[in-house]
Amino acid sequence: MPGIHEDTLVALDLETTGVNSSNDHIIEVGAVKFVGDKQVDTLSTLVNPNRKLSSFIVGLTGINQEDVDAAPQWDDVKDEVADFIAGVPIIGHNIGFDASFLRSHGVKPDGLYDTMSMAEIALPYGPEYSLVRLSQRLGFSHDDPHRALSDALVTRDLFLHLLEIIEGFDRSVLEQIEALGEKASTPLGRLAGRILESDDSPLLPTSDSITGIDHKELGQRLRSTNRTPSVEPHKYDQDEIDGESVMDSVKSIFGSAGALEETLDGYESRPEQLEMAEAVTNAIENGEHLVVEAGTGVGKSLAYLIPSVLYASRQGKKVVVSTNTINLQEQLTGKDIGISSNALEAYGDKSDRLRAAQLKGRANYVCFKRWQNAVLSSDPNDVESKILSKLLVWLQETETGDRGELALGRLTPMFSRYSAQGALMCPSNEGPCFLRTARNKANASNVVVINHALLMSDIAMGGGLLPDHDVLVIDEAHHLESAATNHLGFSVNQFQLENELRQLTGHRGILGRLAAVISKGEINALDASTHIATQAVEAVDSAIQNAAVMFDLAAQIASESTRGSQQQSELRVTESVRTQPIWSDLEIAWENANTLLLGVSEHLGDLCEQASATKDSSAEGLVLDAYSVKDSIESAVTSLRQAIPEPDDESVYWLRTQTGNRGTNINGAPLDVSTKLNQALFDGARSVILTGATIAYEKSFERYRNSIGLSTGNDIALGSPYDYRKNTLIAVPEDLPAPGEAGFANATAVTLIDIARSSAGRVLALFTSISALDNARKAITPVLGRDGIRVIAQGADGSPGRIMRMLAEDEPTIALGTSSLWEGVDLQGASLNALVMARLPFPVPSDPIVAARSEMYEDGFNEYSIPEAVQRFRQGFGRLIRSKTDRGVFVILDNRIVTKNYGVKFQRSLPRCTVRRVSKERLFPLLQSWRDGTFE
Ligand code: SF4
Repeated sequence: MPGIHEDTLVALDLETTGVNSSNDHIIEVGAVKFVGDKQVDTLSTLVNPNRKLSSFIVGLTGINQEDVDAAPQWDDVKDEVADFIAGVPIIGHNIGFDASFLRSHGVKPDGLYDTMSMAEIALPYGPEYSLVRLSQRLGFSHDDPHRALSDALVTRDLFLHLLEIIEGFDRSVLEQIEALGEKASTPLGRLAGRILESDDSPLLPTSDSITGIDHKELGQRLRSTNRTPSVEPHKYDQDEIDGESVMDSVKSIFGSAGALEETLDGYESRPEQLEMAEAVTNAIENGEHLVVEAGTGVGKSLAYLIPSVLYASRQGKKVVVSTNTINLQEQLTGKDIGISSNALEAYGDKSDRLRAAQLKGRANYVCFKRWQNAVLSSDPNDVESKILSKLLVWLQETETGDRGELALGRLTPMFSRYSAQGALMCPSNEGPCFLRTARNKANASNVVVINHALLMSDIAMGGGLLPDHDVLVIDEAHHLESAATNHLGFSVNQFQLENELRQLTGHRGILGRLAAVISKGEINALDASTHIATQAVEAVDSAIQNAAVMFDLAAQIASESTRGSQQQSELRVTESVRTQPIWSDLEIAWENANTLLLGVSEHLGDLCEQASATKDSSAEGLVLDAYSVKDSIESAVTSLRQAIPEPDDESVYWLRTQTGNRGTNINGAPLDVSTKLNQALFDGARSVILTGATIAYEKSFERYRNSIGLSTGNDIALGSPYDYRKNTLIAVPEDLPAPGEAGFANATAVTLIDIARSSAGRVLALFTSISALDNARKAITPVLGRDGIRVIAQGADGSPGRIMRMLAEDEPTIALGTSSLWEGVDLQGASLNALVMARLPFPVPSDPIVAARSEMYEDGFNEYSIPEAVQRFRQGFGRLIRSKTDRGVFVILDNRIVTKNYGVKFQRSLPRCTVRRVSKERLFPLLQSWRDGTFE
């Protein structure tokens, strides 16, 4: 059969007035007809939508109102469009969108191929799948992004490129993609089938695997990943180390003309860094704990890594480094450990003795058995078919099975179905396992990088997840208390629990399939297993109904007792809530649901045991899925018992209801994590080094130490080596209305416009709430748009990472952010001229944890809320100056920093900068003079 390269195809793109195909209109059509790489024809026309274009659409596409007003009506071009695509498969990027507009405009498209879905599968690593990003990455010329013909032409190029990749897959992979696609009727399944049918398709698979994975090759790949030689203590003799202690080596490596200067471009020896490295060395060698606050630019990661690495490699010890964010984890493993290794080598140490590994929590690794089970037995819908195919392609080459390698985007929540998180009861050690490989590698390494989430899971499970270690370094240590609060608490969501239970029943549900496996193994077991499965199905149905009654009552209590917004109500469960009559109803509902959930768990356990006893290896994935559900049910049962009938005084509980498909949550968290952390982290023989840029409060570490239960060891505070007085201007427009006063939102918007104009549109503005951010975005976008300054906002324009990438582009931009942009953002040089803080970041007083913790103090506002806000304030400020040569202005729009007594605590928390209190009228000239160098 002729290949798809001989088919006539059309790549098409539409520009529209909005995203709703029933209300919005087409404003431009672009299409290119082609056969293989030969272009046959093109179509390009604007269309008059008979309505006003939004500024967003004008900004996005560059199509102006006058352009469309002068264009033909849709009825005048409809036939031409229909004729152009008639009888020919249509290719588009996110083609579902274009197809829905064609249909709503009376044109019926034929077969559809979506290049976005193709890219998601054929290029599993991403990093992004927008047409613009893909064309940039693949080097296609894309003259006019978001114009229909230009997008259609680049879609054609992308299609041909992806087709070539997919045609290169092994036959068994193509067959599997076809099979998964057929079950879900996806275009990709048809495409794979079309390639397989063509005359020049790959004839023979390289393996006879029915899942498309060559087990032998995968096993070899994992063994080679795992072939890290285990670490033998390096036996230095006196000659070799030339009588030097680790301390002497550290001084030499960090000192002037030392190994770091020799090996690292642009490195300058810094007294603060050396002081930290010496303190870390002392603490490690004496087996003591140490807290180090290290200002921006100290270079704290090398200051703890190099002493740790020297100690570990010379003495055969193991060091675990824990970070809060993936960014820092990746910086350590991708960069800083390499720098340390080079410095050691230059110094003459045996750097080949350094074995480093990154270890993540179970949820990050794919469980091959669960994936295989899903491929073989599921009846996937189109989304499942897509993620299973994507994982299939990725599994051809991944060495880690770590989902961090994948660009999952909208598929992220689905990954948990195939992750090792749910695979707690592995039936055997046989077969490829990425989790085991990662753990073996960590065991064989002397420096292991983890995150706080894994550290906390290890604590929650009483150990066993981390290799034994002698030194623990906790970076981003200001997050330790919140990480412990999150991970040692719980949140049971109504719909998640219901979804877990629904996996057990219905067409191809887990219970029925378990019964089938058992009956296949032993004829006599048929009746018994079918009986248990039938009972279990009935129990599941009753459990779902009773759990729904319980959650409905919880939702009623939450919404009746709070004035929550329309989207969400949240209620802290205090003693007075528990004494309401409706709480007794909730307890009765809980009792019913609890009995039924325990019954389901018991039935499931019986069937799992019987299925495991059949030793049918093809059922391993199914048993793992079953245990995963059992585990979720049991953990929900334990949490609900604690929250409803058996609360303890050491925890805080709350109910939260949300609209949409998000359901009700019943939550709990420890009120105080210090005792637990003290026992788990600080009460042993190992040395723990805690470090971060914002730990101390009012120059004291006492508050921090109390919060995490640390009573021994030393503290040091190291200021930043940067000259803030010279490079940072702090400006406070003191006559703005205070937050909460009339006119504050409007004044914020007006001032942001001034700041953006005076700072060449290199601005990051930090907000404390999404609604405040949204109000500002709406108010400033049209005004700044006219000045050629782009306004981008976290949420509306993408993830925090995307916002930062856009801000770093060479285009005047003001970025508006909340939460995650308050820290971890590292924009150096000209990318950021001004940082704006819209209001002081006080914790929300009605937040259940904040409310409960505030009550632990005599004066909750002064003793809890202000210190929390000051720490957050310092983190926000830290975004501005990221290198010695950076220069910028920090504008605080919340005048409480100068009008309230507590303001001085915020002021004192910053390094010494140049400060100006000005009227709002004087702000613009002040910022301009700062920028043009006339500032005095
Ligand atoms: S269940 Fe088994 S195969 Fe799956 S991740 Fe766990 S140990 Fe590995």
